[in-house]
Amino acid sequence: MTDTTAAGLTDPFGRAVTYLRVSVTDRCDLRCVYCMAEDMTFLPKREILTLEEIDRLCGAFIALGTDKIRLTGGEPLVRKGMINLVRSLGARIGDGGLRELTITTNGTQLPKMATELFDAGVRRINVSLDTLDPAVFAAITRWGKIDQTLDGIFAAKAAGLAVKVNAVALKGVNEDEFDRMIAWCGEHGLDLCLIETMPMGDISGDRTDQYLPLSLVRSRLRQHWTLEESDYRTGGPARYVTVKETGRRLGFITPMTHNFCESCNRVRLTCTGTLFMCLGQDDAAEFRELLRDPAVDDAGLAQAIRDAITRKPKGHDFVIDRRHKRPAVARHMSMTGG
Ligand code: SAM
Ligand code: SF4
Repeated sequence: MTDTTAAGLTDPFGRAVTYLRVSVTDRCDLRCVYCMAEDMTFLPKREILTLEEIDRLCGAFIALGTDKIRLTGGEPLVRKGMINLVRSLGARIGDGGLRELTITTNGTQLPKMATELFDAGVRRINVSLDTLDPAVFAAITRWGKIDQTLDGIFAAKAAGLAVKVNAVALKGVNEDEFDRMIAWCGEHGLDLCLIETMPMGDISGDRTDQYLPLSLVRSRLRQHWTLEESDYRTGGPARYVTVKETGRRLGFITPMTHNFCESCNRVRLTCTGTLFMCLGQDDAAEFRELLRDPAVDDAGLAQAIRDAITRKPKGHDFVIDRRHKRPAVARHMSMTGG
């Protein structure tokens, strides 16, 4: 039975929805090949929620039991005034109902923002880094400089933030680097999470060329590392082991080879105010017009959120194979933020 009366949000399959991921912008200072086309057309400003609108909607989710919010993008830290949103949400940590506020970033802005983020209440961040090789980094991000991201990671650590490195596994691109990355993360006290590519958005290339199953990566890693099973869970798609030699966690996000939907606790808001109840499905609920309608008060907003949660589907159906070269979901990852 769908719970529409009690304080919390529970979907039709009995899953408590307590985690909101918010893409605050579709823009980015990089153009990772698996994420964006080189010549992306970004959305006009009027279609993007203001930071105040995002803050209000997040507040409505928190009032309904959401206790974890992740800010993502696009690149969340390139949005002007972003720190104000982080401060406002950070002020709700603890008695305000929020347990954790986190950010997924490419790290380029961290040298100047890490301390402000920590002061605003952020304690953990994910930084995307697919390679330690400057030339490969430049090729993957199309024009990025690895030093900016590395400096960002070190600035975050120095500011007191726990950092998890996210690396997308790409066939023939970074597949021979994971041993080195595990050792490097161990040296610097970072957790690492490997991600399979997901078929999202047209990227003007053939995804079957990029797809590298993590089951294969994992069995290769076992030749050099002792991977100890771990019961650490985040309610999300990552499955973790502990690397005995480094003592750090290693996560595997395998949406293509593993079904993680049964424990899904999350929904995703795009920067235009569209709420996706599932990363792999097109059904969505629109909040922008509601937020801009003076007749819709906070109770109306809460009801719209409850109604949306009743539509959360059981699971996704991603497919990448030679017969399905088109993306399973038309929107780019930068819309929903991964
Ligand atoms: N710009 C930030 C960053 O790169 O961390 C946040 C947004 S980015 C869309 C979030 C995460 O999604 C990154 O770790 C990125 O590597 C991952 N990602 C993007 N496109 C992907 C795809 N098609 N398949 C799997 N992961 C993807
Ligand atoms: Fe930008 Fe992140 Fe997408 Fe790379 S993965 S293009 S850094 S939004």
